[in-house]
Amino acid sequence: MPSLAKNKSKSLKPKKVALKNGHKNGHKNGIKVSAKTAILKKAGKVAKRTFFFGGGKAEGTKEMKNLLGGKGANLAEMANIGLPVPPGFTITTDVCTEFYAGGKKLPKALGDDIRAQIARMEKVVGAKFGDAKNPMLVSVRSGARASMPGMMDTILNLGLNDTTAAGLAAKSGNERFAYDSYRRFIAMYGDVVLGLKPEKKEDHDPFDEILAAKKKARGVKLDSELPADALKELVAEFKAEIKNRLGVDFPNDPYAQLEGAIKAVFQSWQNDRANLYRRLNNIPAEWGTAVNVQAMVFGNKGADSATGVCFTRDPASGENVFYGEFLVNAQGEDVVAGIRTPEKIEALGNVLPKAYKQLLDIRKKLEKHYKEMQDIEFTIENGTLYMLQCRNGKRTGFAGVRIAVEMVDEKLISKEEALRRVEPEALNQLLRPVFLPAAKKKAIEEGRLLAKGLPAGPGAATGKVVFFADEAEALAAKGETNLILCRHETSPEDIRGMNASLGFMTAFGGMTSHAALVARQMGKVCIVGCDALSFDYHARTMTVTTAQGEVVVKEGDWISIDGFAGEVINGRVDTTPSEVIRVLIEKNLDAKEAPVYARYAKLMSWADAARRLRVRANADQPDQSEAAVAFGAEGIGLCRTEHMFFGEGKIGPMREMIVAENEADRRAALDKLLPLQREDFAGIFRAMKGRPVTIRTLDPPLHEFLPHDEAGVRDLARDTGKSVEAIQERIHDLKESNPMLGHRGCRLGITYPEITEMQARAVFEAAVDVSKEGIEVFPEIMIPLVGTKKELDLQAAIVRKAAADVFAARGKKVGYMVGTMIEIPRAALTADQIAETAEFFSFGTNDLTQMTFGLSRDDVPRVLAAYQAQDIYQVDPFVSVDRQGVGSLMKTAASLGRGVKPKLKLGICGEHGGDPSSVEFCNEIGLDYVSCSPYRLPIARLAAAQAALKQ
Ligand code: PEP
Ligand code: MG
Repeated sequence: MPSLAKNKSKSLKPKKVALKNGHKNGHKNGIKVSAKTAILKKAGKVAKRTFFFGGGKAEGTKEMKNLLGGKGANLAEMANIGLPVPPGFTITTDVCTEFYAGGKKLPKALGDDIRAQIARMEKVVGAKFGDAKNPMLVSVRSGARASMPGMMDTILNLGLNDTTAAGLAAKSGNERFAYDSYRRFIAMYGDVVLGLKPEKKEDHDPFDEILAAKKKARGVKLDSELPADALKELVAEFKAEIKNRLGVDFPNDPYAQLEGAIKAVFQSWQNDRANLYRRLNNIPAEWGTAVNVQAMVFGNKGADSATGVCFTRDPASGENVFYGEFLVNAQGEDVVAGIRTPEKIEALGNVLPKAYKQLLDIRKKLEKHYKEMQDIEFTIENGTLYMLQCRNGKRTGFAGVRIAVEMVDEKLISKEEALRRVEPEALNQLLRPVFLPAAKKKAIEEGRLLAKGLPAGPGAATGKVVFFADEAEALAAKGETNLILCRHETSPEDIRGMNASLGFMTAFGGMTSHAALVARQMGKVCIVGCDALSFDYHARTMTVTTAQGEVVVKEGDWISIDGFAGEVINGRVDTTPSEVIRVLIEKNLDAKEAPVYARYAKLMSWADAARRLRVRANADQPDQSEAAVAFGAEGIGLCRTEHMFFGEGKIGPMREMIVAENEADRRAALDKLLPLQREDFAGIFRAMKGRPVTIRTLDPPLHEFLPHDEAGVRDLARDTGKSVEAIQERIHDLKESNPMLGHRGCRLGITYPEITEMQARAVFEAAVDVSKEGIEVFPEIMIPLVGTKKELDLQAAIVRKAAADVFAARGKKVGYMVGTMIEIPRAALTADQIAETAEFFSFGTNDLTQMTFGLSRDDVPRVLAAYQAQDIYQVDPFVSVDRQGVGSLMKTAASLGRGVKPKLKLGICGEHGGDPSSVEFCNEIGLDYVSCSPYRLPIARLAAAQAALKQ
């Protein structure tokens, strides 16, 4: 029974979506092998562990994501549709399972498979793995079913040693290229496989430090300016660093390198950041990752070579334009890791026009084939284009809606498919604030515009600067909600801090850097590639070079970032509501001038046509009710009358009522409250215009309304004409050891029937008055915390008598219903008895969860983190309905209730009513409606449509 503030804050909190697609293999912690593997094994056959692709064909297809991972399945698909894919093979996710089941060892037979597949690759490429004269190099990459950008490991240029590097130099006639590849390989392998990392968080990567020293010594700025002999020196220095720090020699044998790399990729499935990412995105640990071994192509072979990352549409806005970036003479990791700030993809048309044209054709072909926005990686080696990856691109909420709606307009997909594609939670972003135009203008006029970077995550955020991800996380845990994480670059390790911040910005990296991808997925405001920033992590400052000179920003200073424009502003800038809010709620923007709103409205209209579940709002004020209607509410599912008592002029009489020592005094106080409540109800009925309004009688323990400070006690004594001591004594009397399980809910109305009577009178008087104004009304009186039929009988009798009295006195009747909340397990289990009296049930899943788990809803944060870390709860049961326990009680109650009254109206009004997974469950068990906070209504409408489409 939360306070008003708490419920408000709950409403906009991002919620996690529970597991949607059940895991067919049904095993935990990666121990068992898949059903398919098991069957093959029984039949005496061994499941195929590796799948080849390349040379214009492939053994896999895009449908085989579970076995080949997303990357493997799409490499196979691209090979199948004739795109230029370097040859390679995928080691299945089942092998990952075998790897963990066998104590982190690769299955014995895998060695032969790998050699056979390498031989096939050698044929296509015309080079040999480990050959001294004509060496083939490979990349080793992870690839899970669901994309987990940057969470797992990758190794490039594998197969190099002193002999093969010399061979590569001779064969390519490009010594610089050979040793550039070699030093990259050692650094990557040294980090990922051998584990040579920075020692302290303030330290840079050890290989980067050596590289930086080399550039300084050679007087150059860019990596690409280092000559071959400097790169050779780097190779030796990197190896020495490994020997020094780790005490091991760098492995020379290519097959030993390959084995180490494959193991490292499998192990990276269980690294910290991957585990956290999976938890945040509800990806089961047992899925495992596949490993892709692919022949290397080289973007670092000179001015006619390049590498890049593109999206077939703009992933931030959703606009139908080719969108991406590339680097000449570089390898893929340079773009993604954000080491050099890349160029816009359009510029490729000037540098390498033939390859650019081919890329544009591929963009079209891929969208037509996949009917979805694709995120692609490519490399150009000496003018020849190669495709290295494609997958459905991550996008912002804005882009998600725009792409889905426009693809329907382009006749690429159906409306139903568009509805399936938009993540309900992503709609939150469309409701997000932007900077107040006047405030931003003023800030700029004051010279507070510090810098401009790339706008990677839309929205506006204003908050305090924090430089370290772990510190952002710690501050957020203490309740600091306004944080902007600022870093030179973000690495996947920073994911927790990113999640804890309102937004983040980096000095380096492009729109496709990991920081940008993660921002868009988490829905955070983000700026990347803001090269005016330089950091001194030790001093905990950030220096911004502006036209006027340098500005030093310290940890804890306020900063504002505009993720639409990429602008960084010093200090705070006030924000303003989004287009959708301005059109619907504030009504100060014309819908015709609001394209974001127009697309939102279109999608919502499709959702409304597709859903079966009705949607209602939890609202207790006329203005909230109006907002609810604007967001599509078809009724009020919960009006918490206790919230009304905190309004202007109401708390005084409420307190008088509570401290009254006899019925007469109590009635006198209630008489003062009645007109105030009536006015509120009338306002709600007017706003709802005939839509049903469920009004709940008083629920929380009375002492919640009493003053907690001396001044309040003195005021109450004065107002009631009692002594301070008498008031203190009364407050003391009202104290309960366990108020959540104490004198609350219908127990208040049972012990003080006059409270229920007053509230019912106020409802019916308002209803009759408003109906006399010609506005339809339909009140539904709801009794909380019922555990036995008798409780409901007694309260319903009071309500019905009040209705009859009011109708007689005012000479007009209105239709109404009396029902109850199902929020105590006993009520769920005896719902058949309760349904004899109740005309509707509304599941109060906040209390039902609390009482089913025996876990206080207010104290759950104390245990939640530990319980989720140990997989005791996969998701917070106060966010997503626990289907096995709480859900089973709901099902029981629904079927017992409908056994007595087949048309019994069923709804939900706990916070779960706005959670997509819970909405799906409510649809499944046949509820009539879900009710949630007004701002979650768009999410509930879309989730209800998706649930209906799934059934
Ligand atoms: C509930 O328990 O789910 C409910 C809606 O009531 P409250 O949150 O007010 O206890
Ligand atoms: Mg409750």
